[in-house]
Amino acid sequence: MSTLDPADWSALRALGHQMLDDMVDHLSGIREQPVWRPMPPPVREGFTVPLPAIGTAPEALYERFQADIQPYVTGNTHPRFMGWVHGGGNPVSMLAELLAGAMNANCGGRDHVGIAVERQVIAWAAEMLGLPESTSGVLLTGSSMANFVAVLCARYKALGQQGRRQGAGRQKLVAYASAGVHRCVPGAMDMAGLGSDALRRIPVDADFRMDLAALRTAITADRAAGYRPFLIIGTAGTVDVGAFDDLNALADIAVEENCWFHVDGAFGALATLSPTLKPLTNGIGRADSVAFDFHKWAQVTYDAGCVLVRDREIELATFAQTTNYLASAPRGLAGGFPWPCDLGPDLSRGFRALKVWMTLSAYGSEALGGIVDDTCTLAQRLAARVNASNRLELLAPVKLNIVCFGIAGFTDTQTADLVADLQEEGKFTPSTTTIGGRLAIRAAIVNHRTTAADIDALAEEILRRV
Ligand SMILES: *Cc1c(COP(=O)(O)O)cnc(C)c1O
Repeated sequence: MSTLDPADWSALRALGHQMLDDMVDHLSGIREQPVWRPMPPPVREGFTVPLPAIGTAPEALYERFQADIQPYVTGNTHPRFMGWVHGGGNPVSMLAELLAGAMNANCGGRDHVGIAVERQVIAWAAEMLGLPESTSGVLLTGSSMANFVAVLCARYKALGQQGRRQGAGRQKLVAYASAGVHRCVPGAMDMAGLGSDALRRIPVDADFRMDLAALRTAITADRAAGYRPFLIIGTAGTVDVGAFDDLNALADIAVEENCWFHVDGAFGALATLSPTLKPLTNGIGRADSVAFDFHKWAQVTYDAGCVLVRDREIELATFAQTTNYLASAPRGLAGGFPWPCDLGPDLSRGFRALKVWMTLSAYGSEALGGIVDDTCTLAQRLAARVNASNRLELLAPVKLNIVCFGIAGFTDTQTADLVADLQEEGKFTPSTTTIGGRLAIRAAIVNHRTTAADIDALAEEILRRV
């Protein structure tokens, strides 16, 4: 029996020090690098080889990493990454990942500090969003899973234990969200066995908020047709344009209609940390559940999603399985009920909470709220540049950190080509989205490293090409 540990640790220690030095250089010099590089075919093919039977020295693997991996990642650490709603990460979170790797804690359960750290993070999240102290929740990969967990809790509230054992049966459960809802929400309905058609997409107004009259009409029509409304989903920050539904109004309707009220606040929930933007989130504290990400606006390294559930008994009743080998004991390492594995779908889980706890502790909520504010100020700056040009036009109001604009006289194909050129040249990575049937350039400003000069450079670069 041979262990995987080295007989002499000094070479590994030296390699580790080298990696740490290089990664600090990488982050501190990120601005000098292209935002993104397309992967050359030989690099791609290098990851289609058979399983190695014989090992390779870690020093050689690190060389391979530097040559074939490091240059070709997404690029969201770069200040000029402005495409999708991706956080930039932060150096403290990077170090926390090293520490978590060394601890190799399984945070599915048992009585150890990993669970205490996660509970602390959940309590902070509830405090941030204005949910009660008793709020429950777990960390997950991202908001896609968090929305899924919330749909399952809502399904439990509607159907009880029978629903867990037998599914929805003849009950025709239906849910409601705005037309701007993220694609993972119909996905969650599908995965929950309710079907994506059971998510009614309610039209939005000129500000991309759910039309409340249309929501009421849809609920009434569904009840008349024998459906059972069970869930209303508000969006705090739509992924396309950053729109906020009127969460207080949705909370009221959910009470009247006896529906679960869930908020998808994947990135927008973090607006609660900004005194100026917080009013947009009014009503979020009334939600039965909230899905949001620490890896977007809160800049924790991927992945770090979170679901909060107001009523812990419901979250427990939705997920807990009583099996003998996992039965929690009154004391010892098997104590400490309830365990995260009873509050979500995962049994084995990594120590995600450590990097979230270290990020929130290292920077504090005020600095993180300041980043939320700053990215929105940068979005206004870009909007002003767009408005000042007769070649560019805003295609959606800029309420948050996302700017969607078009180029006068450009076809969708020309717009798509311009964006792909910028990406392939490694200069900027805006993305595209379709607004009112037209392809828009979408700049989502999420990264704490982005500056006013980056915004001006983007506007100038686009104007040079049109
Ligand atoms: C990003 C996003 C999601 C999905 O979150 P993941 O962390 O990518 O799984 C869901 N809803 C909204 C509004 C988002 O912005």
